[in-house]
Amino acid sequence: MELNKLVEIQRDFSERAFPEFWRISDRRDLVLRVEYLSNALAGEAGELANVVKKIVRREVYGGPGEPLEGAVDKVEEELTDVFIYVMTMAALLGIDLEKAYFRKLKANEERFLRPSR
Ligand SMILES: [Mg+2]
Repeated sequence: MELNKLVEIQRDFSERAFPEFWRISDRRDLVLRVEYLSNALAGEAGELANVVKKIVRREVYGGPGEPLEGAVDKVEEELTDVFIYVMTMAALLGIDLEKAYFRKLKANEERFLRPSR
């Protein structure tokens, strides 16, 4: 399945689940929705970092936490939450994530695979 199809599916879900969120009447409303999604994305990234922190605390520092193998499900869950907000923000702003990804990949190839001599 293509990424933009996933974005479409996520938008459809979000519009059905949170119709008030998608009732955007002016520019200020739009900016507030962008702010909300940005905060939500950062929150999920924080949850992911917390899961990883507990893995590191256990594996590296011998403190309480979980071994990597036992925490992959939690990493998967938080990573998916991040992905959901990435897709929702792309849908809100009409960003073509596939196109943006390939543009970035090309730039990274230039940067990391063909460093200037
Ligand atoms: Mg989460």
